Amino acid sequence: MSIFRFKALETVLTRTIPEVKRPSSKISDYFGANVFDKYKMQEYLPKDTYKTLLNSIESGTPIEREIAEHVSSAMKAWAMSKGVTHYTHWFQPLTGTTAEKHDSFFEPDSDGRAIEKFAGSALVQQEPDASSFPNGGIRSTFEARGYTAWDPSSPAFIFNKTLCIPTVFVSYTGEALDYKAPLLKAIAAVDKAATEVCQYFDKSVEKVTASLGIEQEYFLVDLALFNARPDLAITGRALFGHASAKGQQLEDHYFGSIPERVYAYMQDFETEALLLGIPLKTRHNEVAPSQFECAPIYEEINLAIDHNQLLMDLMDKVAKRHNFKVLLHEKPYAGINGSGKHNNWSLITNTGKNLLSPGKTPKNNLMFLTFFVNTIKAVHEHADLLRASIASVSNDHRLGANEAPPAIISIFLGAQLNDVLDEIESSRAIFKKVKEDPNLWFGIPKIPQILLDNTDRNRTSPFAFTGNKFELRAVGSSANSANPMTILNTIVADQLTKFKVEVDKLIKKGDKKDVAILTVIKKYIKESKDIRFEGNGYSDEWAAEAEKRGLSNIKTTPKALDALVSEKTEKVFEDTGVFSKRESHARHEILLEDYFKKLQIEARVIGDLVTNVVIPAAIKYQTEVIENIKGLKEIGYGPEFYQAQTYIIEELSAHLNFIKTNVQDMVEARKVANKIEDAREKAIAYDETVKSFFEPIRYHVDKLELLVDDNIWPLPKFRELLFAK
Ligand code: ADP
Ligand code: MG
Repeated sequence: MSIFRFKALETVLTRTIPEVKRPSSKISDYFGANVFDKYKMQEYLPKDTYKTLLNSIESGTPIEREIAEHVSSAMKAWAMSKGVTHYTHWFQPLTGTTAEKHDSFFEPDSDGRAIEKFAGSALVQQEPDASSFPNGGIRSTFEARGYTAWDPSSPAFIFNKTLCIPTVFVSYTGEALDYKAPLLKAIAAVDKAATEVCQYFDKSVEKVTASLGIEQEYFLVDLALFNARPDLAITGRALFGHASAKGQQLEDHYFGSIPERVYAYMQDFETEALLLGIPLKTRHNEVAPSQFECAPIYEEINLAIDHNQLLMDLMDKVAKRHNFKVLLHEKPYAGINGSGKHNNWSLITNTGKNLLSPGKTPKNNLMFLTFFVNTIKAVHEHADLLRASIASVSNDHRLGANEAPPAIISIFLGAQLNDVLDEIESSRAIFKKVKEDPNLWFGIPKIPQILLDNTDRNRTSPFAFTGNKFELRAVGSSANSANPMTILNTIVADQLTKFKVEVDKLIKKGDKKDVAILTVIKKYIKESKDIRFEGNGYSDEWAAEAEKRGLSNIKTTPKALDALVSEKTEKVFEDTGVFSKRESHARHEILLEDYFKKLQIEARVIGDLVTNVVIPAAIKYQTEVIENIKGLKEIGYGPEFYQAQTYIIEELSAHLNFIKTNVQDMVEARKVANKIEDAREKAIAYDETVKSFFEPIRYHVDKLELLVDDNIWPLPKFRELLFAK
């Protein structure tokens, strides 16, 4: 095994940097070249068909068979002109990755010849043989069939010489089996609720779109070193490994100059991403060694999420060309920062107004305050559900680990807006009206215009307002953002609907509109005060303070997921129509299973590596030391000459005994946990018993790493994983 480590290290030294060719020096020349976007539609479709299609996409109305027929042959013609032979429905099952099943355009005809065909029906719907995707029991009770159905709001694209059609994945009975279907429902819910609330301020608003910009953090490691670490290869994280003498303590990596090999990789995947219409804009080094980040310009939320899913896939594929492995795990290396995926979210009207951007006039300010305060109120009401939406076995390592927001959901507003809300809350004279215009409310605090550039940066908050958007920072780097974004849009939709009911009631009672709106806002500010926190979210004081405020701090996934199936949640899902009870319970089950299965795999890998790799290496070294003592004795030296050797032998034995017995105990704990039928109980057992062996075993393995001769140690060390490039 140690041979692998040294071979890998040698390989790293001989790496060359592949040449990266860009289609043109101007990005605008090739941006979206592999996307069947509006321009290509226009080129390949009859004018009327194009108009009808666009209309359907914008209004969300079903697309007629005949139109689909036109669209599919246009797509085929375009794709074939680019050398494409296959098509696939591209979907996002609950495994967290994307799925595809390729079919050829090729079809034999009756004369024994062949034609290339792509029928409208094949575009609109497919039945992938997908019985082994997680379904939480939904499909086993009915026919084991799943359907993928075209999502025309996300354009088709060419990836790996295949025409990919973004689709939703639903069961025979119409239940969602993927991330996209509920997201689309949540988007529709927030559109409806927000558009209605907009009518108070601006009758010209017909549609509100959620927008999202996703910052993606990742680690890079050389492929040879990665392959010499079975734990990284199988679980995505290093289960052992002593901290490198140099880690991130010098803070010299953040925004530092990008190493040449990494730079080539970045350019390469960026080019591919741009060809796919993913508007990547920024790249930089992150805090930890070998950690990086990229971010696109924000887009309509459904598209932003498709693009992020595609980007993760792309980053992985392109990494191979550069002999890198990209690690999207939330915490590949203990002791240094983990990776997140910041979700920058806002609501934008069809008239182009960002509803979370403070306005210049009092009227616009009131509109801003309405959406701002309703979002705060929604998060306050459903903090536990939002927490559940970011819960996973890998994100558990990161949340609250001193470099990422804690598991406590709170909101950071920045001093200025915090003051504005305090002012409204305590203001008594808020109903002072101007004589000439009784509708104009005079007491709206002025929101300073400089806000956008001047918002405080509080990196310790899981949910922060950053000038004209909220940033959900607690999302894990490997997650599908659809999950938290479905929840966020759902709870905001529900909240806005409730807001409208309350305001309308007051108006009916005779209040002027602005007065009614501010009355409810003021009430919400009071009610949701506890969720606001401006201080250091990483501190222990905050955990204590949050507890006093009654905020939840659920550290691990199995119990965090309870909020997904609580009565309160069921109600909000039902009212918004985003999940049926069956769907949310199925999802709960799937997430619990995912949790314990991943821990089960980690436990097995720990067991195997300890037994077959670590223990043999330590024994080998111990034997060498014993031989050395024997030799010293043989030529007449007394014990005072091999004190160090004796000490090493004893140390090795102590650590060996510890890891050997603990691995045995862990296996026993696993056997007990495996017998539990109930998914929640099983997940809790894995969390509280099986997982509790991981850290102690690791501690002793890492001690062995420090003791054993470097030439014998089989696993690439952290200093090599992090710095060898
Ligand atoms: P940071 O300083 O946190 O890196 P940036 O201003 O660079 O933030 O933006 C991060 C992400 O937020 C980018 O993807 C950006 O396009 C996105 N973003 C900016 N404005 C909005 C908005 N109104 N709605 C959603 N996302 C936005
Ligand atoms: Mg950010």
